[in-house]
Amino acid sequence: MDSSPQPLKRRRVDDSDQQPEGDQQAVPRDFEHHESLWLTDGNIILCALNKKGHGIGFRIHRSMLCKVSPIFADMFTLPPSDANETCEGVPVVRIPDSAEALEMLLKHIYHDRPLPLKRLDPNTPSLVRPVLSLATKYEIASVRSQIVDRLTEDWPTTLHAWDTLEAEIAAMQEEWYDKHKTYLDKHLPEPASAIQLAKTYGIPAILPAAFYHLSRLSIAYGPDGAEPKKQHRSYLMRGVRTAKWKSLKVDDYYNLLTGRMRLKDAASKAIFDWDFPHHDDDSDSEDESICSERARWRLQCDFEEAIGNDDDVLDVLRTKRKQALRSQWKICSSCSSYIQTEKLPELRENLWRRLPEFFNISRAAEQQ
Ligand SMILES: [Zn+2]
Repeated sequence: MDSSPQPLKRRRVDDSDQQPEGDQQAVPRDFEHHESLWLTDGNIILCALNKKGHGIGFRIHRSMLCKVSPIFADMFTLPPSDANETCEGVPVVRIPDSAEALEMLLKHIYHDRPLPLKRLDPNTPSLVRPVLSLATKYEIASVRSQIVDRLTEDWPTTLHAWDTLEAEIAAMQEEWYDKHKTYLDKHLPEPASAIQLAKTYGIPAILPAAFYHLSRLSIAYGPDGAEPKKQHRSYLMRGVRTAKWKSLKVDDYYNLLTGRMRLKDAASKAIFDWDFPHHDDDSDSEDESICSERARWRLQCDFEEAIGNDDDVLDVLRTKRKQALRSQWKICSSCSSYIQTEKLPELRENLWRRLPEFFNISRAAEQQ
């Protein structure tokens, strides 16, 4: 690992282990003490640069780092070298990561403080990226799992959780703009950045929901949408969702388009495979408890057409459930109930389970 932390050679600016006590102020140092994570009994100093390029020193305990990270544990088994830099007699380890990310990580480790992440925040991927990078590099499982948990709340892994979140968002959409004077889209997860994060740091669990959500959006809208920005306003006020289209890679687009096609094909095929077991004899009977083969065929065509016209197939199959009740095609009650209580829920579950296959993400999922 080329970016792994290495204790550097003694720096000319900090030589305090050779200085008499109380002389610290006189020693020029190229890093500042962190305001709270400078523990006087700490036996290691991690030093990293913050956004402004200033060095920040964290004086902490080796044992705490070893407990959470096998990488740090290995690093500290190396015998200390005389050439190592020290400060106040404590070894200094300079690491190439950001001080802000390190601070977030150490606060989590020391104070058991949850990472400051909000639910449904579209900025979560960019906020977690530096700390996830650290947690991955130093194999700090507790931090990584906390981030993964937060992400899977935004990008559910079960159909039930997806439906629950969808219902919550639908309720938010009602009068959101009138109440808050801000677009709802700015307060909901953004799929393209979530997909990039998941691919970089191996979190395939969130990819099916993120790809599915993306597949039902229009490329017209978003910070880099195809439509002129002026025209976005009225749509955004109505609660239209957007994506950062240009952050997607070529293979994401390929997987997105093939996934949408495969999903619709699978749904249509399943609908025409419904076998309506209640009417084996298939007579065009006058009996109202038996519907005609033609009526059932029309109903299947109706479903197929709705799927063709709408990219939110899971929603179509849910809302169509109610419409199937209506006797537009003179469907008898036993067929209607067969579709609603058996076939549509079964089809939705099946499609959800197959999302990784449709969007070509099963290989990534196997890696985890
Ligand atoms: Zn029937």
